[in-house]
Amino acid sequence: LNRRLAEFGTTIFAEMSALALSTGAINLGQGFPDTDGPEQVREAAVRALRDGRGNQYPPGPGVPELRTAVAEHQRRRYGLGYDPDTEVLVTAGATEAIAATLLALLEPGDEVIALEPYYDSYAACIAMAGGRRVPVTLRPHHDGDASFRLDLDELRDAVTDRTRLLLINTPHNPTGTVLTREELSAIAELAVERDLLVVTDEVYEHLVFDDAEHVPLATFPGMRERTVTISSAGKTYSFTGWKVGWVTAAPGLVTAVRSAKQFLTYVSSGPFQYAVAEALALPETYFEEFRADLRAKRDLLTAGLTEAGFAVFRPAGTYFVTTDIRPLGESDGFAFCRALPERAGVVAIPNAVFYDHREAGAPFVRFAFCKRVEVLADATERLRKAFP
Ligand code: PMP
Ligand code: GLN
Repeated sequence: LNRRLAEFGTTIFAEMSALALSTGAINLGQGFPDTDGPEQVREAAVRALRDGRGNQYPPGPGVPELRTAVAEHQRRRYGLGYDPDTEVLVTAGATEAIAATLLALLEPGDEVIALEPYYDSYAACIAMAGGRRVPVTLRPHHDGDASFRLDLDELRDAVTDRTRLLLINTPHNPTGTVLTREELSAIAELAVERDLLVVTDEVYEHLVFDDAEHVPLATFPGMRERTVTISSAGKTYSFTGWKVGWVTAAPGLVTAVRSAKQFLTYVSSGPFQYAVAEALALPETYFEEFRADLRAKRDLLTAGLTEAGFAVFRPAGTYFVTTDIRPLGESDGFAFCRALPERAGVVAIPNAVFYDHREAGAPFVRFAFCKRVEVLADATERLRKAFP
């Protein structure tokens, strides 16, 4: 392994999912649903396969049906107009979109500001592109509902002459924070003032609860032309195995990202693109039911974790809940998560892996609630017994 990647080793998700398999513990670590997405969307994939749509190399930017459906989705939900031919690019999941974007836009030595804790592929992709990551730490707050928040002064202070782009993620994995309109507006103003590009990972755009609202960064003044928006079908439609993602941005940015993408995967898998195009056209009731189902699961898991003695940061979005293990008399999330399968029969993720400042993330542990109700009930029962 070369020096750029040496520090990254194996992703925590592979390590913890392997631990779940070998111990038979309930896997609330890696975020993937244990029930598949809508039947009619699966049928659409079967139809595409059977009818020979997408079985040979699809067009480089993605099949026109999907590009049109993505553009239509951005217009309908957010009032953002994108030209399906020049401003939409289909990728192999959001993961490839992140990689291709950073590889396309960064010069060696460029600084990238990312909100810490950050999704693990960000650091690896910044490193592969020869960039330097500059983390800005989201801090735990305990006023009203406990949550992790961005300190806008810290963000401003992190910008230097070498800063090339801001890498934002909202709704945020792993904290469940949804950036508010005010926070996003301040980020946008900073980007305009310092002439920065913004890459925004919005894969959890539909997973928001209560009165939280997802507002795309591209909707703020001066942002459309400097923002690369990334999303995918994995979370929204519960098909994390399909790996269909997309980028929306101004033509110059999309062309750049496409230049990198063509040498990573060339094109993305064909038949699923047709199916996701149909998924994007599902009526609003699909999202309402999906959110209501997830919200009930969030409430079940947060209540169970609270009863078991964890301090819980109730998420406003995503399907993750971050907890603080210090009330249990613990302080090292890594050690805690490595022992948890034996101790309680449950797998979780130590948030410290998402930090450069490991000590800032040490006492936090993430649980996923995109699981069947009976699985969540079993897991919380196990945790209550393990921490009497
Ligand atoms: N970004 C974030 C914040 C994520 O949590 C994930 C999760 N899986 C991804 C990107 C990757 O998405 P995909 O599965 O579409 O590659
Ligand atoms: N995004 C998911 C998570 O954070 C899993 C992604 C992965 O396995 N790389 O758990």
